[in-house]
Amino acid sequence: MKPTSIVCVTGASGFIAAHIVRELLERGYHVRGTVRKSAEHYHFLTNLPGAKERLELVQADLLQDGAFDHAVAGCEYVMHTASPYKINVKNPQSDLVDPALLGTKNILKSCVQAGCVKRVIFTSSIAAITDEPETDTVFTEKNWNTTSTLERQPYQYSKTLAERKAWDFIMQRRPKFDLVSINPVMVIGPALSRSLNTTNAMIRDIMSGVYPGIMDLNWGFVDVRDVAKAHVLAMVTDAASGRYLCSAETIHMRTIVALLKLSGFSKYALPNVDLSNKAGSMLMKVLSFTQPRDTGMYIRLNVGRMMRIDNIKIRRELGMSFMPVKESLLETVKDMEKWGHLIPKS
Ligand code: NAP
Repeated sequence: MKPTSIVCVTGASGFIAAHIVRELLERGYHVRGTVRKSAEHYHFLTNLPGAKERLELVQADLLQDGAFDHAVAGCEYVMHTASPYKINVKNPQSDLVDPALLGTKNILKSCVQAGCVKRVIFTSSIAAITDEPETDTVFTEKNWNTTSTLERQPYQYSKTLAERKAWDFIMQRRPKFDLVSINPVMVIGPALSRSLNTTNAMIRDIMSGVYPGIMDLNWGFVDVRDVAKAHVLAMVTDAASGRYLCSAETIHMRTIVALLKLSGFSKYALPNVDLSNKAGSMLMKVLSFTQPRDTGMYIRLNVGRMMRIDNIKIRRELGMSFMPVKESLLETVKDMEKWGHLIPKS
């Protein structure tokens, strides 16, 4: 593939998409990013090396029929990352599900109409694989989230519906392009803009006394720069196909807190009480009802369970290797300090 190809990146202003744009520009591609406001709001994108010559920003909203027609015209590759990533929203249907589903339908229709698209790389999520760890299960690309609903983990529900819609579209319409999905776990790392991503905000919360203690929780993490690389590898690897779980490693909340304390971040309100035992998990399930709705539900579904994820497919087929999560966590924290997202305890 020639770097003269035009690559469309939807939701270019987002935490992950901005790194995809950076990665594509570094590799010499022409990038057309879709955003919601006018270009002067996105200096963090337009000032990237190569942007002056090879980045174009166009406005498009997920909810608007035909909004992506112009963005996709002339593109060989489309990275569809735009989708609301929020928890504890007021109206899960209109705030999460509608934009995720309509956006998927709209972008794929535009790709058909453009006629020149060869592959769509769809940013899905671990959320479309499962919304609760099962201690005896190692999750792979074969797993689908069948438990989320509008009431139970609505963000996870929106991602599941959207990815299913994308695969159904390919099966039913048989377009000229193929589809590859990247399913990242919790994505952390330095941000290209001041905006605080929902996952980095969870690290901020751990450092800000939001949780009463260290819970028996563990998460799969991956660095945002690796997620960007995975998207580009899924584009340039002809044989890429299907879904790719994108996870570096799983790490326990206890390890995160210990690492941050050892690394000189004790000036922040890191939890001290160890609740990562059976009694602590029972207590946390009760206390979870004092948290916002989705956060509380997340705690109840995840506490006391071990998340296990198999990342062999992405390593073998796309040649991915991953940055160690501890390194990524420390960079994330330093980056949040730089942007003023962390306030030391008084
Ligand atoms: P983000 O920073 O919040 O980015 C979301 C992007 O979607 C933003 O560019 C946002 O535009 C755009 N968007 C939202 N609603 C829109 C609408 N109605 N019309 C047009 N654009 C809209 O989140 P992110 O973490 O980068 O997430 C990007 C993708 O990765 C999402 O699909 C998310 O589900 C997936 N993902 C994220 C993680 C993670 O841990 N971060 C993990 C797995 C999967 P504005 O800037 O204008 O709001």
